[in-house]
Amino acid sequence: MSDLSATALAALEATLGPERVFADPATRSLYASDETPQHCLPVAVCFPRAHAEVLALVRWAYTYSIALIPRAAGSGNVGGALPVPGSVVVSFECMTRVLEFDPDNRLMVVETGIVTDEVDRLARSAGLMYAPDPGSGAYCRIGGNLAMNAAGPRCVKYGATRDHVLGLRAISGDGREIRTGSRTSKYATGYDLTRLLIGSEGTLALITEATLKLVPAPEAIATLRLCYSRTRAACEAVIRVMRQPVVPCALEFMDARSIEALRAYGDAQDLPEGTQAVLMVEADGDAHALPEQLAALNRALEGPGLIETQSGFSKAEIQRLWTARKSLSHAVKRIAPRKINEDVVVPVSQLADLVDAIDRLGHRWAVPLVAFGHAGNGNLHVNLMVHEADADEMARAAACRRELVETVLAMHGSLSGEHGIGSEKRQFLALEIEPSTLALMRQIKTQFDPAGILNPGKKFPD
Ligand SMILES: Cc1cc2nc3c(=O)[nH]c(=O)nc-3n(C[C@H](O)[C@H](O)[C@H](O)COP(=O)(O)OP(=O)(O)OC[C@H]3O[C@@H](n4cnc5c(N)ncnc54)[C@H](O)[C@@H]3O)c2cc1C
Repeated sequence: MSDLSATALAALEATLGPERVFADPATRSLYASDETPQHCLPVAVCFPRAHAEVLALVRWAYTYSIALIPRAAGSGNVGGALPVPGSVVVSFECMTRVLEFDPDNRLMVVETGIVTDEVDRLARSAGLMYAPDPGSGAYCRIGGNLAMNAAGPRCVKYGATRDHVLGLRAISGDGREIRTGSRTSKYATGYDLTRLLIGSEGTLALITEATLKLVPAPEAIATLRLCYSRTRAACEAVIRVMRQPVVPCALEFMDARSIEALRAYGDAQDLPEGTQAVLMVEADGDAHALPEQLAALNRALEGPGLIETQSGFSKAEIQRLWTARKSLSHAVKRIAPRKINEDVVVPVSQLADLVDAIDRLGHRWAVPLVAFGHAGNGNLHVNLMVHEADADEMARAAACRRELVETVLAMHGSLSGEHGIGSEKRQFLALEIEPSTLALMRQIKTQFDPAGILNPGKKFPD
C-alpha cells in the first residue's frame, strides 16, 4: 500500500487531531530514513503528545493493520527507524516532558522523546548524573537509547542503558498497556520485562515513559592520551588495564588507519611521529583519589611501544586531548563517501587478535577498514569505506563483512555492542543465535505484537 485509505486517514486524524498527522510528501520524505543510506517513504508521520495518544494510535493501527515505525531522533545507524512500504512513522519528538525528578531516590521519570543530554543536564543540577553517554547524546532521544540499549565511553565503568532503567511504561502491538519494574533500587517481582523491552528495537512495544536511574556525579575527572608505535601494543595495554582493579570511566581506541585519516583531515598535528594507535583513558571520582587512580592506570598502560603520554585535568585540556577522537567521524569520510559501520564486540582479552584480524581482512579484500571505539568493552566500530557505484568494491566489502562477523563469533564475540541489529544486520543474526533460541524470540514477538505491526523488517532475519 502506498497511501492510507481515506477511511483510515480520517480515523487517524479523528484519533490524534489533524494537526498531529502529516501525510504530505515533504514531511514523509523527511522521515524516510535514519543514518543509513536506505530510504522508504512512510504513508504518514504522526506526532503524539502523551501516552494516551500513543495508546489510541496503536489501537487505530491494530484495527486497520497498519505497520508503525517508532522513531526518536533518527540517529541510529542500522536502519532501525527505517519505514517499510505502507507504514506510519510515530515520532516521539513532542513527548519530551520530565514527569518527575526525585533526587532523594536518585531517579527521573521522563517521556521517551526527551533528548539524552537534557536528562544528564538536569540530573547534574542536583549533583547526580545519567551515566549512559552515547556520542550522539546532544540530539538522540531516550526512546531510541532504550530501544537500542545505547552505550558510550562511560559504559566501561557504569554500564549501558539497560543498567540505568528502573521501569517503563509501554504499549504492546495489540494496544495493551504495560508497566514494568518499580521505583526501587532492588526489585524481585515478576519477569523482568524492563530488560526485555530494552534493546527490543521497537518490535515488542512502543515505550512512552521511562523511570531512569541516576548515580552521583563524580567530583573530578582526568584524561590521559597515550600514543603507541604498534596497534597490538595498545591493545595489550587495554587488556592490562581491564585486568587490574581501577576501572577507567573511558577507554577508547583508534587504529592506524584512523590516525592516517586524522592526519589527512588536519586534526592530528600534535600526535608524535610514528604513532600507530591511540588510547584515550579517563578516570573519575573524588578529587583527592584521582592521582592514585591515574598512577595505577599509567602503570598498566606502560609497556613496549608506548611513545607518549599526555594528561589533562582542566576542561580545556581534556577537550584538547579529545579533539582527534571527536573529529574522527568527519575525517574518515575523506577515505570514501560511504561508510558501512560494523559494531562488533569481543571479550576484551581477544582485542589484540581482533585488531590483527581486521588488518588482515582489509588487505585480503582490498577494502579500507577503519577501526576505533570502546576498547575497554572489547567493542570496536569497524568502518568499511566504500564507493557505492563501484560494484566490484561493494561485492568485496560484502564478503569482508561476513568474514569479519564469522571471525568475531569464533572469538565468542557478538554482532553488535551497542548499535543493534535493525534492518542492516539481520542477515547475520542466525550466525550468532541458534535456531531454537531464535524461534523462542519469535514467539515472544508474537505475544507482544500478534499482528506484526510494530517495526516490521527489523531485528529478525526474513
Ligand atoms: C555521530 C553518532 C554517534 C553515535 N554514537 C553512539 C554511541 O556512542 N553509542 C551508541 O550506542 N550509539 C551511538 N550512535 C547510534 C545512535 O545514536 C543510537 O543508536 C541511539 O540510541 C539512537 O537514538 P535515536 O533517538 O536517534 O533513535 P532512532 O534512530 O530514531 O531509533 C532507534 C531505534 O529505536 C526505536 N525507537 C525509537 N523510539 C522508540 C520508542 N519510544 N519506543 C520503542 N522503540 C523506539 C526505533 O524504531 C529504532 O529501532 C551514534 C550515532 C551517530 C550518528
